[in-house]
Amino acid sequence: MTLTNADVIRALRDVSGAAHVLEDDEARARYGMDRTTLVPPAPCCVVRPGSTAQVQAIVRLAREHRIALVPSGGRTGLSGGAVAARGEVVVSLERMNRLLQFNPEERSITVEAGMITAALQQHAAAHGLLYAVDFASAGSSHIGGNIATNAGGIKVIRYGMTRDQVLGLEVVDGRGEVLELNRGLVKNNTGPDLRHLFIGSEGILGIITSATLALRNAPGPLDVMLLAVRDFASIMDVLRVFTRAIRLDAFEFFGHNGLERVLERLQRKAPLGAEAPFYVLLEFEHQGADAPDQVMRLFEQCVQAGWVLDGVLSQTLAQARELWLLRESMSETLARWLPYKNDIGLRIPVLRAFIERAQALVEREYRGLEVVWYGHVGDGNLHLNVLKPETMAGADFAALCERVTHGIAALVRDCGGSISAEHGVGLLKKHILHYTRSPAEIEALRQIKRVFDPAAIMNPGKVFDP
Ligand SMILES: Cc1cc2nc3c(=O)[nH]c(=O)nc-3n(C[C@H](O)[C@H](O)[C@H](O)COP(=O)(O)OP(=O)(O)OC[C@H]3O[C@@H](n4cnc5c(N)ncnc54)[C@H](O)[C@@H]3O)c2cc1C
Repeated sequence: MTLTNADVIRALRDVSGAAHVLEDDEARARYGMDRTTLVPPAPCCVVRPGSTAQVQAIVRLAREHRIALVPSGGRTGLSGGAVAARGEVVVSLERMNRLLQFNPEERSITVEAGMITAALQQHAAAHGLLYAVDFASAGSSHIGGNIATNAGGIKVIRYGMTRDQVLGLEVVDGRGEVLELNRGLVKNNTGPDLRHLFIGSEGILGIITSATLALRNAPGPLDVMLLAVRDFASIMDVLRVFTRAIRLDAFEFFGHNGLERVLERLQRKAPLGAEAPFYVLLEFEHQGADAPDQVMRLFEQCVQAGWVLDGVLSQTLAQARELWLLRESMSETLARWLPYKNDIGLRIPVLRAFIERAQALVEREYRGLEVVWYGHVGDGNLHLNVLKPETMAGADFAALCERVTHGIAALVRDCGGSISAEHGVGLLKKHILHYTRSPAEIEALRQIKRVFDPAAIMNPGKVFDP
């Protein structure tokens, strides 16, 4: 039996209580979109379950009546994965934000999926521990959203991606079954590990309801260094020299034009005397009295080789924060120009060759448009942002970027990379997925989706779905 929207809303109210089903225009617009603005939101309604049992009841109802569901976290996604534009029901996990268990003896924590990332970080810090995934949207994104996108961020070079923190997951799959995946175990060799299918699945297999995550011993005080670098090839030389000598917590880069925009927005002076095409931000643990000498020797080596033109090493926590602010403000600063974002993943040895060819392509194809490069270059992750000129119509800009992106994606494929390093595929990247995942892989993904989501109700139209 096909339900009308009014029937759906009535049934959802029975499950989660009337106060937790929202159908007004403001709520539908707010919950129906993420940080991408290309597709206008149009969900049927929003439901905010308060327990796994309620999530299960919602999925079973949806399965029975073929109602499309869009799992929704903090809606900070940059690929349109949480966008509901086709009358779907948005399932927001925001009420499911409780701490369920904290185990200091095994340095683990179990939380509901709707916990804000920063809240988890703070909880770990209060016990002298670290939740190692961090990025600029940690104040709004959810743990469930981080897991569903396998979020990366600024600490990957030392601690890995979100996948590397997940010890166990509770999910409600598209069949309406509650699955306990890996039960928080470190050692569990009992066949393929289904936990990893749900990490990075962008809501297309089911809804993550809680997770057990690994915590780390908190590092000692961290020093931050900002370097002005002669060209992109020199960034790779600096990376090689520093990674061989010390353990890095972060190795980020950004272009000069991006820095200028950030300084203007933050009303700050330039952090260095010299101007350079690129800047590198390094973070590393302060390791006692000898460390500054060692770091200065590495710095001087880079200057003498001609790779680095200038640099500054933080002397206080406040200075370290100021330097980080320059990098962390990049995404929010550029948002004003409605940037078209490419999120490229490559292996370190091919980065130099890639950037040479990509810069030539970008200069040729985006003539007259401003392009800003930044990213987590120490992990091979480059963000290529094309800013929309104010005088250019949105549709013309989108058409141009779509066209050029095929050229970029082909280049990424030829260099053995990925068209999405950390933002996911969602709606915005699905037309270029085939460049870096083979037809056989995509077919296997489709079949896996059929197993967990036989009625095709989980986030339809995303990742590889038409
Ligand atoms: C300023 C800024 C900086 C950023 N920096 C980074 C960065 O450095 N690294 C990085 O990786 N990302 C970054 N992002 C992108 C974004 O913050 C991450 O992708 C984040 O993990 C998304 O989490 P969310 O809770 O906001 O998810 P949402 O945007 O709500 O959802 C993302 C996807 O996950 C699905 N989903 C959400 N919750 C669940 C659930 N419980 N169960 C199943 N599926 C679910 C959604 O359907 C959607 O497909 C940044 C974003 C901004 C705005």
